[in-house]
Amino acid sequence: MKDTVRLRSGALVTQINSREAQTKGLLDRSMLKTLHLDATGGPIAYSQLNDGSIKLWFAPEQVTGAEPDTWYQPDSRTETVRLPSGSVIEKTTIRKAAALGYYTEERLKSMHLQLFEEPVAFTRRSSDKSLLYFYDRQTTVRMPLMCVQCGKDVRFRRKLCKACYEKDLAARRAEGDAYRNREYGMDRARVLFFDLELTGFYDHDEIISVSIYNAFGQKLMDTLVKPVHTRKWKRTEKIHGITPDMVADSPTLEQLAPEIKRIFAGADNIIAYGVSTDYSHIRYIYATEEERQALKAKVRDCAQEFVRYIQEHRPDVVHASLADAMACFGIEWDGVAHTSIADTIGCLKVWDKLFPNYYVN
Ligand SMILES: [Zn+2]
Repeated sequence: MKDTVRLRSGALVTQINSREAQTKGLLDRSMLKTLHLDATGGPIAYSQLNDGSIKLWFAPEQVTGAEPDTWYQPDSRTETVRLPSGSVIEKTTIRKAAALGYYTEERLKSMHLQLFEEPVAFTRRSSDKSLLYFYDRQTTVRMPLMCVQCGKDVRFRRKLCKACYEKDLAARRAEGDAYRNREYGMDRARVLFFDLELTGFYDHDEIISVSIYNAFGQKLMDTLVKPVHTRKWKRTEKIHGITPDMVADSPTLEQLAPEIKRIFAGADNIIAYGVSTDYSHIRYIYATEEERQALKAKVRDCAQEFVRYIQEHRPDVVHASLADAMACFGIEWDGVAHTSIADTIGCLKVWDKLFPNYYVN
């Protein structure tokens, strides 16, 4: 038993022995009842009794006179039961109990609450007149969530207990490793890496830098691009360092499009890190939806593969930017980070680590 327990109500109760509680003048529920008092504060301590049940203690300075109708019952003698702890509880009806926030053990379990305190009231089952106890919902304890797989242990990660999680992780890891180590038989000359820098993060933003490498690490294109309708891009300038002055004499995307198309046409796989943004901008070099879909079919996302890798191998790694992926594999930047050329080379190297048998040559 823990020394301090947090109840559902949020109250933190500390264990003391019954004698100590009485010396301090603390009151239990049956004392409050006898004195016609209501506790205004939550319980402040608890004692574990010989039979294992728990009695809660309330502070004497946090009480108020109980409403007479809660104790004045001239017409009926209320049936009582003495609990093993010595506490006396009264018979009540299910309706009254519910109004006070008292529920049966079965009901509380269905609310995912665990009993802590001894019963606070009872009723008799209509079937056989046997005792049915009520417990105060406020003084229950939240049950820990259990593993969805075995149901036996407390959850650790991904809704699984530690043992089930480890087993699941090992299985996923073996599957992922087999996938990444497969022989892909790709021709290095027909695999491209590319990266773009943009004036911003939205659809209307324009490309201001394009870098394309093949898998041999040969540069096929690395150029700044002059935007057509954007004049300044202060926010992204801080990231990639490309100023309006720098692109003033650069070719436009339209001028570059035939060359980019020619390079892309010679590739089976076109890989970028976080490719969806890049794809959503580069696709406009193609006029038809059919051509755009053909490009999309060739495009692969290195970031997505890295995310899968860390989920299987490095659950501790929670960020998956290109810089994170490079750091994870111990890859140094080749040039200035966040320029399209450095990002392209970084992506190429991360891909090499993820797929060691990707190329045939
Ligand atoms: Zn489990």
